[in-house]
Amino acid sequence: MVEVVNRATLYVVATPIGNLGDITLRALEVLKSADVIAAEDTRVTMRLLERHGIAGRLLAVHEHNERRASERVTALLAEGKTVALVSDAGTPAIADPGAQLVGAVRQAGYPVVPIPGPNSAAAVLSASGFEASRFLFCGFLPSRASERRRVLAELADQTALLVFYEAPHRVADCVVDLCTALGGARRMVIGRELTKIHETLHHCRLDEAAAWLQADDNHRRGEFVLVVEGADAASAPEAVDVEAVLKILLDELPLKQAVALGVRLTGGNRNALYKLALELKGGV
Ligand code: SAM
Repeated sequence: MVEVVNRATLYVVATPIGNLGDITLRALEVLKSADVIAAEDTRVTMRLLERHGIAGRLLAVHEHNERRASERVTALLAEGKTVALVSDAGTPAIADPGAQLVGAVRQAGYPVVPIPGPNSAAAVLSASGFEASRFLFCGFLPSRASERRRVLAELADQTALLVFYEAPHRVADCVVDLCTALGGARRMVIGRELTKIHETLHHCRLDEAAAWLQADDNHRRGEFVLVVEGADAASAPEAVDVEAVLKILLDELPLKQAVALGVRLTGGNRNALYKLALELKGGV
């Protein structure tokens, strides 16, 4: 198939999330034909281009220069050039730079054409076995514990599947927080290192996830997408505000007793509630 690229057009091109073979024929043709490739990290994109024998002219577009780069790309389009936008992995503008650039190009009146392909959230969903007719993409949770808990409390009643991105150094804490906020009974899938040598799709309950991650250092290495079942409308009362319950218990009871009762009332994970109780008491 020969893709004929249009002049004065921005193509938003999805690239592999690990396995360099995961690139579409259209993506390769667009990357070959584009006058300029706007890339999040030019070294990463260079490896992909080299693998496919493409000699592209690269321009860096990352979160720290996206506004300036947008002006540069718009100027190139004004000259009638074709520009391809890529990120380091997967689909640009999904938890990646690109939205600002696309917005500026559209605002300037030039066409934007998506070239769909890999996306790590879609990859895990497709192999999760969960009915994914409704899912909520939550991206990365905030790194500050209090902010993370606030976001999770808001998500507790969501009936759609929840999809999270997480970094390896935070994944263990993340599943503990998910368990505390959403209850331990929900099923989940931990998608790790997708399309790579150590690809893992681990199915478990939320209250089993922390133990699985701790069981082997390798389980915490690499890149992660977490998919968690939504709140079951029939068991909605389970979506309690664990933090609020624990605060009330801690006002009245010693810590250990408050945690034990909290576990029975909320169905939350004991270790997670213990950690939260210590935080609430100002002990950590
Ligand atoms: N735009 C990308 C996409 O379409 O998937 C996501 C970019 S975001 C900056 C990077 C995060 O995506 C990682 O921290 C991880 O949560 C997830 N991710 C990317 N590649 C992955 C892979 N091969 N396996 C598991 N998760 C991945």
